[in-house]
Amino acid sequence: MTECLFCKMVLGVIKPNVVYENDYVLAFKDINPQAPVHILIIPKTHVATLNELDNIELSGQLLLAVNQVAQQENLSEAGYRTVINCNKNGGQEVYHLHLHLLGGRHALATRIT
Ligand code: AMP
Ligand code: ZN
Repeated sequence: MTECLFCKMVLGVIKPNVVYENDYVLAFKDINPQAPVHILIIPKTHVATLNELDNIELSGQLLLAVNQVAQQENLSEAGYRTVINCNKNGGQEVYHLHLHLLGGRHALATRIT
């Protein structure tokens, strides 16, 4: 998917501010943060939306990466919010599946992106 912004990040054509990666996922800082910590976690393979996610291992890896990045960013104890936007009514703007990880202040003070 060479036209996909997030695939270009996986390939290294565009270089995001990476905070974590493993064989399955890449996590990087959101360019327009809606909270003091706002990280996007994406699969390294192209999955357009949550509707297309059909791989159990990848699904688990995405959730485990949220856990891992939250620990790394010292969010675990205070807590955080995760958001997945799907398609038009979900407000999805980039059509490569991503989990928003939002933390650093109470969720009520955070715009749900
Ligand atoms: P969504 O509305 O769920 O599709 O969210 C897309 C997110 O991608 C938004 O929060 C954007 O700020 C973020 N975004 C768009 N372009 C970039 C980029 N080049 N680097 C990092 N984050 C980006
Ligand atoms: Zn993609």
